[in-house]
Amino acid sequence: MHLWSLPPRLHILARRLTQAPLQRAFLKMRVLVITGAGVSAESGIPTFRGKDGYWRNLDPIKLATSEAFARDPELVWQWYYERRERIRNAQPNAGHEAIASLAQCADEFLLVTQNVDDLHERAGLAKAEMVQIHGDIFVTKCSRCDFEQEHEQDQNGVPRCTKCDALMRPGVVWFGEPLPARETERVENYLQRDSCGVVIVAGTTATFGYIIDWALRAASSSK
Ligand SMILES: [Zn+2]
Repeated sequence: MHLWSLPPRLHILARRLTQAPLQRAFLKMRVLVITGAGVSAESGIPTFRGKDGYWRNLDPIKLATSEAFARDPELVWQWYYERRERIRNAQPNAGHEAIASLAQCADEFLLVTQNVDDLHERAGLAKAEMVQIHGDIFVTKCSRCDFEQEHEQDQNGVPRCTKCDALMRPGVVWFGEPLPARETERVENYLQRDSCGVVIVAGTTATFGYIIDWALRAASSSK
């Protein structure tokens, strides 16, 4: 059983994962990697729980809720526009790149990331090998119907749905909301299909029960 829980300092992971003997060892393994905000923090993306996460003196944990959106959608959108801009200007770091190269040498690979940014993808990881369990910040979806758009031009104010005219919202999972069923199912299928040879948990304090549950189940099923 190999369950590695690594500190947020991702360069340690990066250095280990790019060593040839370790990469060879992963060749015939099914790998599960779980990442959190600590991975993107090294690219300059502030974590919600760090002091840099505050925006205009507002606590992100209170902004990322459907209640905040109902109260002041314009304020919430302004925060997301600025976060999108910051992510566009950021670059994937050695941790993202190491995970992408690990995916290439593993027999089977799945990344479950709690990050809503696109840095894993920009480091070269295919979308098929990745589950963004808390959504994608570059998706804009309708708050009423199933209409959604990806990577559209940011505008000012609150966008409206072209299908039903309801307010559009960012395509992320807010506090208190259920996880997207389709994405949860992809994780469950991966865990149930076969055992994992190695499980890596990086850059997360694993606050959420489901993250701990997936990591432990994958690790306990490993041989
Ligand atoms: Zn709509």
